[in-house]
Amino acid sequence: MHHSFRQFGAILFALLAIQADLKAQNAVCLTDELMMRGRPEVEALLEQLNAQAWSHQQRQGGGSPVVPVVVHVVWNTASENISDAVIQGFVAQMDEDFNLMNANAGSVRPAFTSVVADVGIRFCLAQYDPQGNATTGITRTYTTDTWFDPNNEPHKMKGPPDGISAWDPTRYLNIWVCDIVGSSGSIVSGYTYLPTGGMAGSWQDGLVIDYYYGTQPSARTPTHEAGHYFGLRHTFDGNSCFADDGFTDTPNTNSPTWNCNNTNLMKCSVLTQYENYMDYSGCTAMFTMQQAAYMNGVLNGVRSSLLGSTGCAGWSALPEDDEHPRAWLHPNPVSDALTVRVASKSPVAYRLIDATGRAVRQGSLIDGALLSVADLAPGLHWLQLEGAGWTQTLKTSVIR
Ligand code: ZN
Ligand code: CA
Repeated sequence: MHHSFRQFGAILFALLAIQADLKAQNAVCLTDELMMRGRPEVEALLEQLNAQAWSHQQRQGGGSPVVPVVVHVVWNTASENISDAVIQGFVAQMDEDFNLMNANAGSVRPAFTSVVADVGIRFCLAQYDPQGNATTGITRTYTTDTWFDPNNEPHKMKGPPDGISAWDPTRYLNIWVCDIVGSSGSIVSGYTYLPTGGMAGSWQDGLVIDYYYGTQPSARTPTHEAGHYFGLRHTFDGNSCFADDGFTDTPNTNSPTWNCNNTNLMKCSVLTQYENYMDYSGCTAMFTMQQAAYMNGVLNGVRSSLLGSTGCAGWSALPEDDEHPRAWLHPNPVSDALTVRVASKSPVAYRLIDATGRAVRQGSLIDGALLSVADLAPGLHWLQLEGAGWTQTLKTSVIR
């Protein structure tokens, strides 16, 4: 696999600028994707990935898998040395986006709400390093390199002397944050590789994010790149109405969409799903059901070693805080049954309280539990959860 990988490289994806005006002027995709597509060896790798992803799509076990993330800041100027808060913010955003907890989930247009997915893959900043020592999940490395050109030095930040080596890539999602724009004319906010051709678990495996463009909240660059990391292609893959990304619930589109100004935007004679995280719109808010199944297939397949990682072994003992929700509900509003997802392997106590303050259900539940609400009166309800050392109250609306 490594031999064939070197022969033609892996499949590189890039995300362009986030500011619409800049993007329009600098719509230079550095991706090798176009060059690679159509080459028989690349097509064969994609076929392999497809076969594996679809055959592993059933989630194994009960709880939500948690992927430990390590963020390597490789900085030259003080502004490139981004704060812990920014890093915690984008990891929390990835976690929300993959669990349909994103605040803008409601912005998805009605045409696509039926295919919106809760991927159910969680992300945490690593709590333990590969040696088992406590960590913040953030490393900081000074470099004399003023910037890394993704066109000809895409891996230079991934080891000495200019950068820092990955933590065991079979156990951690490595994210390098550095300047990848520099003085170049094109703006690349991030890139990564599909888990093909020996990439998964190799020293190059992981995401590269620009310290500025890649950390803008509206760009959702880490979420987008994590989609590639779990095997997704762009919704506009192939840049043709006669090519697609392999999913029927992402309508065919022949080019990236850079904004959400036209809510009736048609491409390839169908409404364009520019809300998809795998487009470039700057207002992305969703993955689809098929994308979610595929990513879970990749996690349970070629990336299954992540499932055995102890990088976040202490994660379920974290106290409640607003940045890191411990539990969430879907659907919400609900009419029949509420699925309760809890980031805990142990049972948690619960009380479901109605608008009059009465407990209408109580007991203990585990992650993935279904609470029937079919016999409850419509209106707001509160679910109080109590785990080991934390509590959380979630609001839900019962509708008929
Ligand atoms: Zn991309
Ligand atoms: Ca599609």
